[in-house]
Amino acid sequence: MQAKPKIRIGYGVDVHQLAEGYPLWIGGIELPSLLGAVGHSDADVLIHAICDALLGALALRDIGYHFSDQDPQYKGIDSKILLKEVYQLIRTKGYGIVNIDATVILETPKVNPHIEQMQAVLGAILELHPEELSIKATTHEKVDSFGEKRAIKAYASALLYQL
Ligand SMILES: [Zn+2]
Repeated sequence: MQAKPKIRIGYGVDVHQLAEGYPLWIGGIELPSLLGAVGHSDADVLIHAICDALLGALALRDIGYHFSDQDPQYKGIDSKILLKEVYQLIRTKGYGIVNIDATVILETPKVNPHIEQMQAVLGAILELHPEELSIKATTHEKVDSFGEKRAIKAYASALLYQL
């Protein structure tokens, strides 16, 4: 029997409610916005989706399994710290990242002008060049909770290779 190729694919999705009086953290940076994301941590939907994609690629459950939203030590935590821990975990398991492809769904404000900065911040943590860390943004065409500015969502796929 032929050995399987030493690559693994992972997929992650995350949603947060939007409300006034909260900061809007996406991809490790804070965007100026009247509405922010509600959550136990800093509610960075993009980082959470990427964490789930990385964990999922190695069947390591999900972000809530590793960092419980009932645990007071994660209250308001910078999600970049969680991403660092997840990346450490996959390295410990003997894997590196080939590439990541992610999409943020947000009606307003515009995410596109901030994508290069997100790639720089997340790429520094994950040791990825911008061309290996794709971040895309789209609106929800004013329909449903996302289009009505009641929620934000992100999807991420990650491909890992054995070191
Ligand atoms: Zn989340």
